[in-house]
Amino acid sequence: MTDCLFCKIVSGDVPATIVRESAGTVAFRDINPQAPTHVLVIPRDHHPTVGELADSDAELLAELVREAHQVAVDEGVAETGYRVVFNTGSQAGQTVFHAHAHVLGGRGLNWPPG
Ligand code: 5GP
Repeated sequence: MTDCLFCKIVSGDVPATIVRESAGTVAFRDINPQAPTHVLVIPRDHHPTVGELADSDAELLAELVREAHQVAVDEGVAETGYRVVFNTGSQAGQTVFHAHAHVLGGRGLNWPPG
């Protein structure tokens, strides 16, 4: 999609600090980090929400979750614990409607989330 921010990060038209890439995904640091590790993992293809991604390409969703775990390993937070968050819909805080996993770690994370 031409007017999608994360599609522009995939195409390289918007710069980002990319930490991992796979055939179907790109992982890059969040511009406004909420934890010492805060990386976004996105599918290269445009899917507005994780639910729509699950419905149309479950294999790509599995790849995305594997990549999220590998980000946590690479960042050194897999053993202490990390959180993978898919904000879905505006009431849940989704602001960019290109599906993305937040990978958060490196500090204690409260439950329930706000
Ligand atoms: P959401 O609120 O949709 O779950 O998450 C969107 C995330 O994208 C936010 O955490 C926000 O900080 C991040 N973000 C927004 N614009 C940019 C950008 O231009 N570059 C990067 N790296 N992250 C962004």
